[in-house]
Amino acid sequence: MIAAPDFAPDYALLDPAEAPARGALVFPFIGQKLLLGPDAALPFPRMLQELGPPGRAFCFGALGEQRCVLQIWLADLAIPPHLSIGDYRALWGQWPVGHLAAFVRARQLAAWVLHNRHCGVCGQVMNLCRAEIACECPACGYKAYPRISPVAIGLVCKGDEILLARSPHFAPGMYSALAGFVEAGESAEDCLRREIREEAGIEIRNLRYFDSQSWPYPHSLMLGFIADYHGGELIAQESEIEDLGWFRFDDLPALPHPGSLARRMIEAIRAAWAGKTRRS
Ligand SMILES: [Zn+2]
Repeated sequence: MIAAPDFAPDYALLDPAEAPARGALVFPFIGQKLLLGPDAALPFPRMLQELGPPGRAFCFGALGEQRCVLQIWLADLAIPPHLSIGDYRALWGQWPVGHLAAFVRARQLAAWVLHNRHCGVCGQVMNLCRAEIACECPACGYKAYPRISPVAIGLVCKGDEILLARSPHFAPGMYSALAGFVEAGESAEDCLRREIREEAGIEIRNLRYFDSQSWPYPHSLMLGFIADYHGGELIAQESEIEDLGWFRFDDLPALPHPGSLARRMIEAIRAAWAGKTRRS
């Protein structure tokens, strides 16, 4: 069996009027929406003909020998009836991991191109640079690079329990670790301490970095930490949190997606707890 290739990011500007090279994997986006053909596969170029040429096109990486090409239609066109919109969470388990990594980069770059059609300084229409991945203003020279938004996410432990919470937009019954966007001028650790204080009313200590993960909604870089409970009573922030509580490792609610950093942190801590419980 041939292993599925890893995704390797790169960048090369293409002429949107020209058909992509034969064998290229085309990721077509209307705005931020990835178009998929039958069976959640990337559509063949002929399935996109009715859309006309895309507004922007560039190579954004490779999967083994295959170049990955992003095509973006900037106008809010109707989705052709034989195509559907790809959702990262739904593709997990259907697509190889390398293809999912390509999707994460493609969707973030599609959002970046869409949001930088005009210069933020002088309002001119921006062009994609040839030399580097940037949108450049031909009038004033301002460059906009792909935006990445750091998010601190923390799993708080207290004895045999972890702190989990649910936000009103989660799937029914699902709980996850608390998280929040890093503010300007803030460290990831300060952000996590502040978020947990605001959303759960408690103090944490002993923060340990776990891992990071790029997430395509909208352009997040999740920075994962494990932390210990330090003090205070749980009080859920009404505007953000529907419910929260301490959950025992052997009695956890529905958990987030297996591909998410939150889930990996929960599983790692649960496995360590189970090992300790077996030994004692
Ligand atoms: Zn400008």
